Amino acid sequence: MAHQPERPKEYVCENCNNIVAGVVDGEPPDHTYQPPRDCRACGNSEFVELDRYPSTPQQ
Ligand SMILES: [Zn+2]
Repeated sequence: MAHQPERPKEYVCENCNNIVAGVVDGEPPDHTYQPPRDCRACGNSEFVELDRYPSTPQQ
């Protein structure tokens, strides 16, 4: 059986740039990922989705 593990959505802390896996909300197949309540590293509660996180500026 080829079970494909789902990669959790990841979020980036806007304060310290720590990457945190999202929290699962709901049951499969309708579950979604929510940003963590706060950053374990710095306590900040503002996160941006990793997919939307801007790449490092070139200059
Ligand atoms: Zn943080």
